[in-house]
Amino acid sequence: MGKAMKKLAVLTSGGDSPGMNAAIRSVVRTCAYHEVECVGVYRGYEGLIEGDFKAMDARSVRGIINKGGTILKSARSKEFRTEEGRKIAYKQLIDAHIDGLVVVGGDGSFTGALIFNQEFGFPVMGIPGTIDNDIYGTSHTLGFDTALNTVVDAIDKIRDTASSHNRLFFIEVMGRDVGHIALNVGIAGGAEEILIPEEDLGLDRLVESLNKSRKSGKTSSIVIVAEGDKIGKNIFELKDYVDENMEGYDVRVSVLGHMQRGGAPSCFDRVLASRMGVKAVESLLEGETNYMVGLLDNKVELTPLEKAIKGKSKINLELLRVSDIMST
Ligand code: ATP
Repeated sequence: MGKAMKKLAVLTSGGDSPGMNAAIRSVVRTCAYHEVECVGVYRGYEGLIEGDFKAMDARSVRGIINKGGTILKSARSKEFRTEEGRKIAYKQLIDAHIDGLVVVGGDGSFTGALIFNQEFGFPVMGIPGTIDNDIYGTSHTLGFDTALNTVVDAIDKIRDTASSHNRLFFIEVMGRDVGHIALNVGIAGGAEEILIPEEDLGLDRLVESLNKSRKSGKTSSIVIVAEGDKIGKNIFELKDYVDENMEGYDVRVSVLGHMQRGGAPSCFDRVLASRMGVKAVESLLEGETNYMVGLLDNKVELTPLEKAIKGKSKINLELLRVSDIMST
């Protein structure tokens, strides 16, 4: 058991994701429930260094559970990567009598939190907030489910055009290192092929597969491409290759971009954020530190930050097989 905590802080860091506000609300209200003071830190580690803090009570987080983005703003801080910057951040926390910190962010933010703890022994707890779902120790990161719904909605709309004009659409979705979004939306959106960083299909096999679909009677096709896919240098080169090597289709590209990160969080993300916030605060109050709160077998569990950072979030092989069968 650590020393009794009287005041906690919460910040959001790295790329924003839907559900961050619901997590802030949960942290603030769990603190209020346990009669612990809570402080919001603006602009992630940048605000931590500048001492940009705001006292938050249960009422100050009203009306935000349904809002995308983060009311505390997010930032990437170069200064926090330096020992000097982290020293200033530590002093700000001590001067404000803060006893523990909840960090909502991705693996970069967790790396910063872990280094900070190792240097100063300051208690930290992570909540995974990123749409990519690329973090070990949780089946779902905050924002992943919302992003899936947003992308499926976009695919449905693009399909209307694809089928009206006999078009082949390449749709790029987020996922630099992992294909979780691509694989799930590909299945849900009825894509003919799904290109993900974990698998190198090869250009010739892609063309072969699209030709096969066409011969089987398909008049339009959708191919989902994760932005980190290694098959082509970028989605436009992929389009050029298929244009040159396939006949009968009008080939188009759609890059969905940042719209995937926005919007009101889904019911799933709101519930997940609420559960994770409770667990993060209660774990800190129980004297735990250097953990990430995650969802494992639908239970909210702690995973050491070090493992969460170093571990690989693996693609679901069963989903890969399902997608293969569905594109028959
Ligand atoms: P996303 O998944 O959206 O990219 P992230 O949390 O991984 O989110 P990063 O930009 O990698 O985003 O990290 C956020 C911030 O965490 C950085 O701007 C920096 O301040 C801090 N950080 C990242 N890596 C380190 C590190 N090695 N040492 C100290 N601080 C770090």
